Amino acid sequence: MLTETEAREAILDRVSPLPSRSLRLEEALGLFASEDVRAVLPLPTFNNSAMDGYAVKFADTASAKPIRIIGEQPAGASQGLKVDAGSAVRIFTGAPMPEGADAVIMQEDVDLVEGAIICKEPVIFEENVRLAGCDLCAGQRIIERGNELTPQRLAVLASQGFTEVRAGTLPRVALVTTGDELVPPGQPLRSGQLYNSNGLMLATLVKQLIPAEITSVHVPDDLAQTTEALRELSASHDFVILSGGVSVGDHDHVKPALQALDITPVFWRVKIKPGKPLVFAQSDTAGHCCTFFGLPGNPVSSFVTWQVFVRAALLKASGANEASQQLPVANATLTLPLKNRGDRPHFVRGRSENGQFTALGVQQSHALFGLSQCNALLRMEPEEQIETGEVRAV
Ligand code: AMP
Ligand code: MG
Repeated sequence: MLTETEAREAILDRVSPLPSRSLRLEEALGLFASEDVRAVLPLPTFNNSAMDGYAVKFADTASAKPIRIIGEQPAGASQGLKVDAGSAVRIFTGAPMPEGADAVIMQEDVDLVEGAIICKEPVIFEENVRLAGCDLCAGQRIIERGNELTPQRLAVLASQGFTEVRAGTLPRVALVTTGDELVPPGQPLRSGQLYNSNGLMLATLVKQLIPAEITSVHVPDDLAQTTEALRELSASHDFVILSGGVSVGDHDHVKPALQALDITPVFWRVKIKPGKPLVFAQSDTAGHCCTFFGLPGNPVSSFVTWQVFVRAALLKASGANEASQQLPVANATLTLPLKNRGDRPHFVRGRSENGQFTALGVQQSHALFGLSQCNALLRMEPEEQIETGEVRAV
């Protein structure tokens, strides 16, 4: 049985970023840049006013002598005005600074008298002026390969005049829930049946992570149908993620189905709790590589193995850098003592809030409601004991 670290390495060694392509900025939200991008323009691009007011020579504002207004410069093309000692230009936020002006006095700080201003407050050199390049210099790196293309980063690319960016292709993901006992929500439930909740949970976990194409399928506990579904889906998807049917029971058909397709799992058990049965495999058919994850059917086990293993693999395939592949962590102080009595590392579910972590709900792999109250996982080593007040990364 592999340790969590070995399993993660085995996965990330085998999953490669999908090819990249150029696409319009409008279509790139949530994708990952596949190359560094450097600025071609400084930001601000030219010296401009930070206020509505008057562009002046700052030295003139020290006295109450009238300063003559010689023209107006709104935002937009330069009017070619020039400020000399004793003259001012009416100016607006974002407008280019007229030649000769070295400060802007706010309109609230002047009195207007017969085509001139009288300053009530002096300004200092370059006050209320946004200097060219103070935010960004031309040549500076604005995007690093593997960065997520967030609205802010896309806006910086647009501010450079770019209309396209090179980004990794998103994986095509097929989600396969398995089990004769499962019924789609919305239909009547007979005794012994339960609603398929993993289908929605896994689909929304993928959507929350990356704007990928998702195909969702349910197969009964039947070897022929499972095999056929895997054959078809693996030909047209980069990932096939299954839930349930990964143990060694008579009704667990995931491993036999892979075997029927001549696919040998890289591993099928990992030393963690919850989530011991976890199948990882890859197929290569006519040059198309498909990665398979068989997650345990219990909802909490599916969730934890998704967070610990599948998430990073999907991000790597999408072109995310190593830092973004990691789960976000924060330090938190335990509000209650905890002990892991088992012989596997235990991912305890709880709430991390205001710097405190509290384990919540029934810590069992079927306990979906308990999981729904949680927003954090605490990893505990076998036999580890943590006291109230101790700080851990969660
Ligand atoms: P399995 O891994 O197939 O043995 O399933 C383990 C447990 O998880 C069983 O109690 C299943 O009923 C439950 N389970 C499996 N798949 C799902 C699903 N899609 N939604 C909710 N529960 C599931
Ligand atoms: Mg099952």
